[in-house]
Amino acid sequence: MEIKADLCIGCGQCVIICPVQAIKLIDNIAVIDKNLCVECSICKRNADCPVNAIRSRRLKWPRVIRSPFSDVISTHRLTGIPGRGTEEMKTNDVTNRFGVDEIGFSIEIGRPGVGTHLGNIELFTTKLTSIGVNFERESPVSALLIDDSGHIKKDIKEERVLSAIIEFKVPLNKAILVLQAIKQIEKNIDTVFTVGVISQVMKDGAIPILDLLTQQEFSVRPNAKVNIGLGKV
Ligand code: SF4
Ligand code: SF4
Repeated sequence: MEIKADLCIGCGQCVIICPVQAIKLIDNIAVIDKNLCVECSICKRNADCPVNAIRSRRLKWPRVIRSPFSDVISTHRLTGIPGRGTEEMKTNDVTNRFGVDEIGFSIEIGRPGVGTHLGNIELFTTKLTSIGVNFERESPVSALLIDDSGHIKKDIKEERVLSAIIEFKVPLNKAILVLQAIKQIEKNIDTVFTVGVISQVMKDGAIPILDLLTQQEFSVRPNAKVNIGLGKV
């Protein structure tokens, strides 16, 4: 994203709206920090710039990868899914992605206000690969993996995005290894992340993963969601 300095009148509307604080007023002119900007297009779409000074430009590799992980309107080319490229676990009930003895995980790295560089993905994917998880094929993060060790391309590691979601599943007996790995990574990572866990509820109402989460000192906030109209397999 670019701001035409000769047009800007320093109203500050774009400064307030940028989700990663990448825009500052310098001598009453808005300036974008290119390193912090995640190319989400929110300033262009929503700042209502009174002089139309905010302009998008054609992005080149590797910078172009910022947009689909940050702009909720862009459709991710790797999956054809808008909204940062993943349906996450929403369609689980109708696609039977997760069986009785399987646990699904989603780890969202970064959030509005913080963001992340893509190198943080590798902290998780290399460790998870060594555990033997099954990465979700329909996830854009899975498509970034370039080898059997969970590495991503070197030239995208410094690219900043709003957030990236790693999705995978493991047999129930390996879930503890995943939780322990997450606790380790927490000590080294330089941004925020959120862990989502999905499991079937047993006929007697038990949810096996709950005990494991508590033992590993994760604070649990159970969520349930009813999606009407997803009955397409
Ligand atoms: S494109 Fe997004 S991150 Fe970049 S300056 Fe605009 S609002 Fe901020
Ligand atoms: S909204 Fe437009 S005029 Fe106002 S500070 Fe941003 S670029 Fe400048």
